Amino acid sequence: MTHNLTLYNSLSRIKQPFKPIHEGRVGMYVCGPTVYGDAHLGHARPAITFDILFRYLQHLGYKVRYVRNITDVGHLEHDADDGEDKVAKKARLEQLEPMEVVQLYLNRYHDDMKALNVLSPSIEPHASGHIIEQIEYIKKILESGYAYESNGSVYFDVPKYNQDHPYGKLSGRNIEDMISATRALDGQEEKRSPLDFALWKKAAPEHIMHWPSPWSEGFPGWHLECSTMGEKYLGETFDIHGGGLDLLFPHHECEIAQSVAAQGHDAVKYWIHNNMITIEGKKMGKSYNNFITLEQFFTGDHPLLEQAYSPMVIRFFILQAHYRSTVDFSNAALQASEKALQKLTDTYRRLQNLLPAEKSTVEVPDYITACYEAMDDDLNTPMVISHLFDASKIINSASDGSVRLSSEDLTKLRHLFDVFLINLLGVNVSNDSENTSSSKAYEGAVDLLMEIRKNAKAQKDWATSDLIRDKLGALGFDVKDTKNGVEWSIR
Ligand code: ZN
Repeated sequence: MTHNLTLYNSLSRIKQPFKPIHEGRVGMYVCGPTVYGDAHLGHARPAITFDILFRYLQHLGYKVRYVRNITDVGHLEHDADDGEDKVAKKARLEQLEPMEVVQLYLNRYHDDMKALNVLSPSIEPHASGHIIEQIEYIKKILESGYAYESNGSVYFDVPKYNQDHPYGKLSGRNIEDMISATRALDGQEEKRSPLDFALWKKAAPEHIMHWPSPWSEGFPGWHLECSTMGEKYLGETFDIHGGGLDLLFPHHECEIAQSVAAQGHDAVKYWIHNNMITIEGKKMGKSYNNFITLEQFFTGDHPLLEQAYSPMVIRFFILQAHYRSTVDFSNAALQASEKALQKLTDTYRRLQNLLPAEKSTVEVPDYITACYEAMDDDLNTPMVISHLFDASKIINSASDGSVRLSSEDLTKLRHLFDVFLINLLGVNVSNDSENTSSSKAYEGAVDLLMEIRKNAKAQKDWATSDLIRDKLGALGFDVKDTKNGVEWSIR
C-alpha cells in the first residue's frame, strides 16, 4: 500500500506531503514539560498528539528519533518577568534543592504519561545538562553579530536580525506591531529594544541556579535550550518540530531566529502545533481557578469534576478532536467520551469471540484503506474513530446473530481494530482495572449458568440443561460434561 502522509506546516500554512530529509529516517523534536508543577490537561494534549505522529511514522516503517526536552532551567515568570527561574522559585518556596523539584515533578509526569499510554521518546534531554552547549551556541550568535552583551547578560538583537531575515515569519507578525504591543518590563533598561530576548541572564545574588559563563554567573534563556539540543541530537536541519500552539510565539519564533543567526539557515522543515484545551469555554489558568491536574482527573478529586475519568477516557477524548481544533473540556463531553470508548472496547472484545461463517451476509467496506487515508490526511483521528464506529455496527450485528461474517472479513476487521484502535490510537483495552473487573464478572456469570444447568440436570429438566449448553455453544463456548463436573472454555 502506498502512503501519502500530509502534515499541516505552521510555517507554510498549508498541508504538505511529508518527505523526510534522510530516506527512511525521521528526526522529531517536541517541546517538553517545564517541571515545576503537576501535569494538567494542557500537558496531555501535545504529549498525545505527538505520540500519535510518533506511532504512525514508526508504523509506516520510518526509524524515528524523537527528542522531547525537559525544561528545568531558564523558564522565567511570564507575568512578572522578575528574572527568577520557575524551578528555582519553586525550590526556594518549598525549601528544596532545585533538582529535587525537577525529579519530583518529572517522576509524576512520567507516571501520568504512562497511564495515558504515551510512548517514551528516544531521548529526553535536560536543559540543565546542556549548559556548555548553550554557552557555545550563544558564542556563535554573538559572532554573527545578532546578539550583544549588557551588564553580564546576553540579548538577541531582534531589530538588527530583522534587517537581514524576517523575524515573525512563523507567527505572521511584523515587528512594528510587536513593539507597540510590548509593555515595559523589568530588565528593560539592559535591552536595546523591548523585543530583544535573553540568551543568557546574569543571576541575582539570591538566585540559586547559576553556572559560570564568559559573561557572568547566570543561566541560559528558555528559548535557547531547544535550538541547542535540537541541533545536538538531530543535526543542523531536521524534519519535525512540534509543540502546543501557545509556544508558536514567542518561543518557536525565537528558536528560528537563533538557529538562523547561529547556523545561517533554518533548522526545521515542518513546524507542527496542536491547538489548546479550554475548560468550559475558558482558558486554563490560575486566575480562573480551573487548573485541573491529570492526577485529579484520574481520581475525580476536584470541585469542577463530577466523577473520576480514567486515563484512557482522557486520551480518547483528546483524540476525538483533530489536533488543530480547540477542545473544550466539560463533564458532559468527558462522559460522552467514556460511553463512546466503552462501546468501542466492548466491540473489540466481541470481535475476538466471533465465529466465522462460510460466507458474509453483509458487505464489509474497506475500512482499513479509509483509516489509512484519514491518518495520511494530517492525522485525522476523529475520522479514524468514525470509521471504527461504522465497523462496530457490523461487528455488533454479527455478535447478536443478525448478520454473519466470513473468516476473511473477520480477519480484516480484527486487523482494523488491532492496527488503528490499539496500535495507532494507543487505546489500552487489556490493562485497565475496569477490564479486570469486567472479565471477573463475565467468568462469574458463565459459572452461574453452569450451576443452573447442573441443578436442571439433577431435576431431570433436560430442556433447560440443553438450552444452556446449545446457546453457549452458539456464542462460541465449549461446554463439556466430565466426571468431575462441567468444564467450559471459549473456542
Ligand atoms: Zn522548546
